[in-house]
Amino acid sequence: MTRHLWSERVGRGFLHSYDVEILHEERTPYQHLQVFHTPLWGRMLVLDGIVQLTEGDEAVYHEMMVHVPLSGLARPPEKVLVIGGGDGGAMREVLRHDSVRRAVQVELDEAVIRACRKYLPEITCDWNDPRVTLVIGDGARYMAEAAERGETFDVILIDSTDPVGPSMVLFERPFHEALRRCLAEDGAAVRQASLPFSMPDVMPFVMARFREVFPWAAPYRAPVPTYGDEMAFVAGTRDGASLSEPRENRLGRYYNPDCHRAAFALPTWWHDRIADY
Ligand code: SAM
Repeated sequence: MTRHLWSERVGRGFLHSYDVEILHEERTPYQHLQVFHTPLWGRMLVLDGIVQLTEGDEAVYHEMMVHVPLSGLARPPEKVLVIGGGDGGAMREVLRHDSVRRAVQVELDEAVIRACRKYLPEITCDWNDPRVTLVIGDGARYMAEAAERGETFDVILIDSTDPVGPSMVLFERPFHEALRRCLAEDGAAVRQASLPFSMPDVMPFVMARFREVFPWAAPYRAPVPTYGDEMAFVAGTRDGASLSEPRENRLGRYYNPDCHRAAFALPTWWHDRIADY
């Protein structure tokens, strides 16, 4: 296999460069999918030229996306919905919660699941777990239909790509209205809200959307080394309860109760960015 230099365009005039060996590459009906091997980060999943995860540091993203709402909820959650997340990392962490009885995942692109099963088996989840229902389809459509039939979940996680291409619909107002309706009265939602320094509009935009539908909404932070920036997540609850205090003493590779609490401490410029939006 030949190694070459590959670059991801992260922000205006800002590129990350990696030594990569290409393990897999395809054009799916929805996106350009690549799997690389890299000497420092291990295997890496790239969609439309944007790094999604690496074996080296994916635990930061997935553990913080999942355990903050699942361990921050006042009661142990039983029903969880994951939108996107075709790599299986978020579902893997959801299934670590013994209280979870039913976990539904709605991923648009079957090719992502196939590639991750083959090339990233350490990251992906056990799709055969009897608690899991996997739906291949558009998350916005699923949410609208679930809201219509009155289905609710204790926690909903939106593990989508950034707001370009097929995930755009997951950032729109109707999606957020359906999101609120699909949450249990004491339920919580979390979504990835991109990189506040290199993509400065996404986190304040997501905050504005969450504030429209939730009485409590708050961003929280996770330092993911490959992203070259802090990752922003935005959380919201239907009953106004905060998620900032963990209910249990859970330890992950990155996650622990101290990291949970500290993630809600925001730098002044995050506050300013939200206020100015
Ligand atoms: N860690 C991530 C990042 O860096 O942005 C996201 C991980 S995950 C790979 C994102 C997934 O969202 C992709 O597999 C993509 O196919 C899926 N996705 C995008 N739009 C979607 C939609 N409308 N409905 C369901 N899944 C969607």
